Amino acid sequence: MEPTPFYVAGRQDVSDEVVDIRHPFDGAAVGRTSYATPDQVERAVAAASSVAAEAAALPAAARAAALDHVSRTLAERADEVARLITAENGKPLKWARAEAARAVSTFRWAAEEARRFSGELQRLDTDPAAAGRMAVVRRFPRGPVLGISPFNFPLNLVAHKVAPALAVGAPIVVKPAPATPLSALLLGSILAETDLPPGMFSVLPVPNDRAAALVADPRLPVVSFTGSGPVGFGIREAVPHKHVTLELGGNAAALLCSDWSALEDLDWAAQRIATFSNYQAGQSCIAVQRVYVHEWLEDAFLPRLIAAVEGLKTGDPADEGVDVGPLISEDAARRVESWVDEAVASGATIAVGGRREGATYPPTVLTGVPAGAKVLAEEVFGPVLVVERVTDDAAGFAAINDSAFGLQAGVFTRNLQTAFTAHRTLQVGGVIIGDVPSYRADQMPYGGVKGSGVGREGLRSAMDDYTEPRVMVLTGL
Ligand code: NAD
Repeated sequence: MEPTPFYVAGRQDVSDEVVDIRHPFDGAAVGRTSYATPDQVERAVAAASSVAAEAAALPAAARAAALDHVSRTLAERADEVARLITAENGKPLKWARAEAARAVSTFRWAAEEARRFSGELQRLDTDPAAAGRMAVVRRFPRGPVLGISPFNFPLNLVAHKVAPALAVGAPIVVKPAPATPLSALLLGSILAETDLPPGMFSVLPVPNDRAAALVADPRLPVVSFTGSGPVGFGIREAVPHKHVTLELGGNAAALLCSDWSALEDLDWAAQRIATFSNYQAGQSCIAVQRVYVHEWLEDAFLPRLIAAVEGLKTGDPADEGVDVGPLISEDAARRVESWVDEAVASGATIAVGGRREGATYPPTVLTGVPAGAKVLAEEVFGPVLVVERVTDDAAGFAAINDSAFGLQAGVFTRNLQTAFTAHRTLQVGGVIIGDVPSYRADQMPYGGVKGSGVGREGLRSAMDDYTEPRVMVLTGL
């Protein structure tokens, strides 16, 4: 099998450091790529740096046309794209299709935002001494962006770095996750069809030491990182003078408030929570990991939740109709197994569950989990859900906040006052009312507080992030 080429300054390249990519479900080789050598990395960074001024001056029409081309092509090739995501990542086809559709929308939004991104005028004559003065505030790219992405959304999280960079006219160097580079390389092949100046993008599969060298390179002043906390905070510490955005892990919670008692509401919540604690085998930073249930609802809710979880179909992710596939590796599944075993050894009960088979871990619901157990306190990143009882809504909010993370929370309520209290009280980047915390629309600001990160993605937020405002004061108007 020939290695799929990577992209150095917009042009295809390969190296002798060949890497096989394996299907997480059965270990079959699904593709091959190669690592960019230090020389190739140098060419990519030098090109990004030298094209930066030209890129910043590209007309919005040219940027938007390139972004529209990517969006349209991804839509035309959606089935192929989804199958590639499933092959390298192991997520069920239906979730891979959802990811491909989101990437289409991410690029389309970026094209629209590129056309709108204009800055603002500010009056300065509010002070009598400044009569006749006016400020023009425009945002200019900070410089080339380094985008580092994780394995769990191998296409759309790359899109969330590439699309806003191109929308503002910033060159970008992408470093995809080692287990899942193929979707990013496919994206590279579509970008190569556009009229963008060649130095504007590179897609470089590299080992982590070469990635660390990219982080340290002063010619890439912006680092947009999505991945785990230790790596992310390590990057921020290594380059405190750079503009670093961190999109990190979570242990997202949902709360069933006291008013969420109609039987059809409980059915909906059970279905949504079962689905979104197990989608992508729980490998999403906003998968539901903790559920807090008002105590008077627990007897009605728990059997519904268990039935919904038992209704999920586990198996080969390439089979239509499969809900839960493997984790990214057998090691990852073993870790999840050991965390569940630890919780059970310290008193937790398994309400639904089963045995691990290779990289596949069955959807699991735990009750009676003692505080401090890893499945409650840390990011499980697997198909495991902890259910806890709370005495009132305020106790639910406090329980959600009792976490080292703060990405998103889901609050099942129809009470407007409760919704506003949740919005004000919860220490997270997003509160989803009437649904699970796992909802994300690609245009909305997205990110976390505490251990979940620094800064926000989402098209407009990332475009703000990749640029800085520069003021021009006009006098004598
Ligand atoms: P990871 O931290 O292991 O790897 C992320 C990326 O960083 C990979 O491309 C990896 O090769 C690279 N990397 C590792 N060491 C590096 C170094 N020293 N310098 C530069 N780059 C380095 O994360 P992962 O296992 O791929 O992804 C799972 C994590 O990502 C979870 O914690 C999950 O919650 C988080 N995540 C967060 C979001 C979000 O938007 N907040 C979205 C998806 C995933």
